Amino acid sequence: MTTFPPDRPNPPDLVPFAEARAGVLERLRPLPVREVGLGDALGCVLAADVAAAEDLPPFANSAMDGFAVRGADLAGAGEASPVALKVTGEVFAGTGRLPTVQPGEAVRIMTGGAVPPGADTVVPVEQTAAEGDTVLVRLDPGPGRFVREAGEDVRQGTVVLPRGRVLDPAAVGMLASVGRRAVAVHPRPHVMVVSTGDELVEPGDPLGPGQIRDSNSWLLVAQVRAAGAGAFRCDKLRDDPAALRRGFALAAAEGDFVVTSGGVSVGERDYTKQVLAELGDVRSFRVAMQPGMPQAFGLAAGTPLYGLPGNPVSCFVVFETLVRPALRRLAGHGDDRLDRPRVVARLGGPVRSPAGKVSFLRVRLEVGDDGLVATITGNQGSGVLSSCVAADGLAVVPPEHTELAAGSAVQVILLREDMAWVS
Ligand code: AMP
Ligand code: MG
Repeated sequence: MTTFPPDRPNPPDLVPFAEARAGVLERLRPLPVREVGLGDALGCVLAADVAAAEDLPPFANSAMDGFAVRGADLAGAGEASPVALKVTGEVFAGTGRLPTVQPGEAVRIMTGGAVPPGADTVVPVEQTAAEGDTVLVRLDPGPGRFVREAGEDVRQGTVVLPRGRVLDPAAVGMLASVGRRAVAVHPRPHVMVVSTGDELVEPGDPLGPGQIRDSNSWLLVAQVRAAGAGAFRCDKLRDDPAALRRGFALAAAEGDFVVTSGGVSVGERDYTKQVLAELGDVRSFRVAMQPGMPQAFGLAAGTPLYGLPGNPVSCFVVFETLVRPALRRLAGHGDDRLDRPRVVARLGGPVRSPAGKVSFLRVRLEVGDDGLVATITGNQGSGVLSSCVAADGLAVVPPEHTELAAGSAVQVILLREDMAWVS
């Protein structure tokens, strides 16, 4: 394939799923690098290596509450032969002016306190008995014990987080530990979500004859956020060329990416395709997948725009399988982190799938005696959102199969990553 989407109007042939995915990703690049503060960094992808500007910890400090001592003073200390040391001072976490420990002396020290000059070892308080300004030590911990050396976690200059690393909580903690307040990342894409259709009514407003709730925009906003991107829900657009033209132009001007639903198939009032084609090179095409065949993609006034079918299940599945990887590409994720993870499961019952199309079946997963079992979540119609609500994953039936028997192995795209499927 030389161009994507195919440049013929309404091409009769279906685009194989893998080609559609590759064609979309091919046209997208990570968003330009920006500095973000630590508070906004979670989930972002680092755009440059981060090296430690300082040692971590920055100074030798105590790992225990106890006494800082000269290790050599404790040679031979034991239950039967305690060593008596004179307590000459105290060091807390945060103490800056430190007493010096001379031979035969000890300084009371708290966890995180700087090891004072002269001392090289800490004796935990549990191994001691204090009497006035004397401490009896009943254990030789060995020289250097219970001291966290400067730089033992990270040496100044070491790369602590490489470019491409996704900033998870531990990474954010590390950035703060080495003194960073802001980092260069690929920012989260800002996604404009648009619904089209004369029949759509807001949740909460009265439903007139022939009207339905606009569920797609809420669904898509949630999917966008779950993919780690930012979402803005635009006003819904009527099936009217002028309204669509204005609405899409505004969305394209405001966002890094536009997701729209409805109007991309062959209905009488599906003006969406025509309007999108005028705005840029957005073209409609049909992907060899079920559900979700009619789609549109391209640049509208320079902004990538993905047109999804109106049926809520189609919308859901195409988002998960094609739009989510696109948004993650913009966010700078590597090729191995674009898609949701997959597991292999055995089908709990037989399934059918149309010839020549990949099917994404909504399944529930259970851990059986022989590994994971995937069971269809009832009616798989493309308007039946309950099938998605009940689903733990999407079972993938490749295009070459028209039916699979119970017990067949299938790949399942995990929708609930926070559950322990892999036992
Ligand atoms: P369309 O792709 O515009 O032909 O719509 C296909 C089906 O999806 C129709 O039954 C529409 O009523 C329905 N639909 C379109 N947009 C939405 C939406 N935002 N929320 C719920 N259903 C929708
Ligand atoms: Mg419509």
